[in-house]
Amino acid sequence: MDSNALKARSNAAIDAAADDLIALSMRIHANPELAFNETQAAGWLTSFLGERGFDVTPGIAQMPTAFRAVAGSGAPVVAILAEYDALPGIGHGCGHNIIASAAAGAGIGVRAVIDDTAGAVQIIGTPAEEVYGGKVAMIREGAFDGLDAAIMTHPGSRDSVWAKALACAEVSIEYHGREAHAAAQPERGINALEAMIIAFNAINSLRQHILGTARVHGVITDGGEAPNIVPGRSAASFLVRAEDDAYLEELKARVAACFEAGATATGATLDVRWNVNQYAAMNTNAPIAAAHRRNLATLGRDTLERENPRPLGSTDMGNVSKIVPGIHPTIAIAPPDVNGHSPQFAEYAASDAGKRATIDGAKALAMTAIDILTDADLRREMRAEFERTRAAAPGA
Ligand SMILES: [Zn+2]
Ligand SMILES: [Zn+2]
Repeated sequence: MDSNALKARSNAAIDAAADDLIALSMRIHANPELAFNETQAAGWLTSFLGERGFDVTPGIAQMPTAFRAVAGSGAPVVAILAEYDALPGIGHGCGHNIIASAAAGAGIGVRAVIDDTAGAVQIIGTPAEEVYGGKVAMIREGAFDGLDAAIMTHPGSRDSVWAKALACAEVSIEYHGREAHAAAQPERGINALEAMIIAFNAINSLRQHILGTARVHGVITDGGEAPNIVPGRSAASFLVRAEDDAYLEELKARVAACFEAGATATGATLDVRWNVNQYAAMNTNAPIAAAHRRNLATLGRDTLERENPRPLGSTDMGNVSKIVPGIHPTIAIAPPDVNGHSPQFAEYAASDAGKRATIDGAKALAMTAIDILTDADLRREMRAEFERTRAAAPGA
C-alpha cells in the first residue's frame, strides 16, 4: 500500500480521536505537575493508550512517571516522545500538555496502519524535561536502545522542523565564610555574599569575551540573613549554555574560574556541584526533518527548508539526538511576540490554536513515522546523516 493511503488512514484515525485528544490535553493543562511528580499526566496517558490497544509498561527506567506504550513488533522501530512536566508558578507555560497529547495522537494514527507497515511504534513518556534532564537519566537506563528514530513536537511561536537547542550544564555553588558582628567585629568575618558578588561580576566580565551564542545566567538563592551579620553562607544556581558540546566544556572551565575568584578574594571556601545530567546540543537529523517538513505542508503549515533560528533554549532531546536519529520540530500555537515560559504562553497552550496544533502535530508526527517505517531509502539516508553528524559533534 502506498504511503499516501496509509497517511490518509492515519489522519482519519486521529480525527476520529480528536475530541478525546483535546480533552486529554486540557486535563493535563488544568492540572500542572512539576518534574517527577507528573503522576496524573502519566496515568492519564498510559490509560488512554492502554484502552486503545497499546501494550503499556509504566515506570520504565526506574522512574515512576516514565512509560513505554508499544504497537506492532519487529523492526524498524520509531519512538514518539511525550513530555508532560510543568513549570513552577506558571503551569504549562512551555505547553508540554500539547507535546503529550500530540504524541498520544500520533500513536493512534500509526497504530491504525501498523499492520500494513513493517515494525513498531513506541510512545515513550519522558518526565522532568524542564529541570532535571529526565531523558539523560533514561539514556543511562537504556530506555532508547534499539530505536531507529525518535521524534517529538514542541509548541512554539512558529512552525519549524529545524530546532536549535543549546548544550546546557547546570551548576549549584555555595560559599562558606565566617559569621561575625558586621559592625563590632567586621575584621573577624569572612563574607560569603561578597564572594558570590565577585563571582557574578567575574562572569559579567567574562561574558564580553565569549561567543555571542553562549549563555551564562544565574540566581542567588541564599545571600545571608541580616545586614548586621557578616553572611557566613551564600548559594546560587547557574546555567551555562553553548552552541556545541565542545565549547560548553571550555566555557564551564572559565565559569568555574570565576567561582574560584570569589573564594580567593574573600577567603571563603567554595563548593561546586555540576548536575550530572548535562543537556547536549540538538542534532537535528536532516532527512527526517525534510520528511517532516513535507508532512507539515500537507496540513497547510509551511516551514523553511533549512533554517537557523534563535536557539529555543536547551532540551534533553538533544541527548537523545546523539544516540538515535531524531527531530525536535515546533508547531505554532502563539504569535511571535509571546514569550516562552510565560503565563501568556500557558494560555495559548489551552487556546483554539493550541488545540489545532495538538491535532496537526499528531498527524504530522504520525506521517513522519509512517515515512520512516515504510521507506528503506529514508532509513538509510537518516542513518548515514546521523553517523556523519555524530562524528562531527561528539559527546552527549
Ligand atoms: Zn518545553
Ligand atoms: Zn520549557
